[in-house]
Amino acid sequence: MLIVRVETLDGERCYGCEVGSQVFRVEGDLFGEFQQTDQLLHPVRRLAPVVPPAIYGIGLNYREHAAEMGADLPAYPVVFMKSPASLLDPEDSIKLPRHLHSDQVDYECELAVVIARDCKNVSVENALDYVLGYTCANDVSARDWQNFHSGGQWMKGKSFDTFCPLGPILVTADRIPNPQLLPIRTILNGQICQESYTGDMIFSVAEIIAFLSASSTLLAGSVILTGTPAGIGMTANPPRFLKPGDEITVEITGIGQLRNSVMIEE
Ligand code: MG
Repeated sequence: MLIVRVETLDGERCYGCEVGSQVFRVEGDLFGEFQQTDQLLHPVRRLAPVVPPAIYGIGLNYREHAAEMGADLPAYPVVFMKSPASLLDPEDSIKLPRHLHSDQVDYECELAVVIARDCKNVSVENALDYVLGYTCANDVSARDWQNFHSGGQWMKGKSFDTFCPLGPILVTADRIPNPQLLPIRTILNGQICQESYTGDMIFSVAEIIAFLSASSTLLAGSVILTGTPAGIGMTANPPRFLKPGDEITVEITGIGQLRNSVMIEE
């Protein structure tokens, strides 16, 4: 099923199932029982497909990206959190922070995993049974606040408002039996600047879920950003950070395209 969350003409926010160019209402609980109805919806806006209780990020999880950072391959997944308030709807604008100023806002295309139900101590073998679906994410990062004024903690530089664009389509897990076979890329102003595939991950989606759930409850609806491939703006020569008017797209073959523009925080 291709699940979307939409706003309709009368302002209602609800779940739908995309079939061709039409969207049908989905009834029930996305994290319990749900089903597609035959009621046609008339969306005026696409929203981020879930409102997560927690957003996990995995750092340095593509071999080529670890190499461009000059980092050793990590022995365990490198985990950080992004604030749930950083969530951004598809087509909305990423805002370059100005109250706390950043001149180093960067993009990271990522495969996002949505957890289907509360889980703990999940084995690698069973981990994908706990995935509701997959969508596109941009792990927007202020490199100055992530790396230079942070005491080594990444969360502030990853958590400014609008720094977690997500969506628009949540492809249910039954349609993606192997999440390690997906081409992924970033397109900035029409130019491809990151291009890889999810098979280059150091820790697979199943290994990440097993690790995050070890002795720790992973809540239903949690979103896991599974890392970004090589080609971030910080490692370009000269560095290429986001600027007002930029148009940035995260594209994952078989899942969709997440498009956002860039503006200055008011
Ligand atoms: Mg990232």
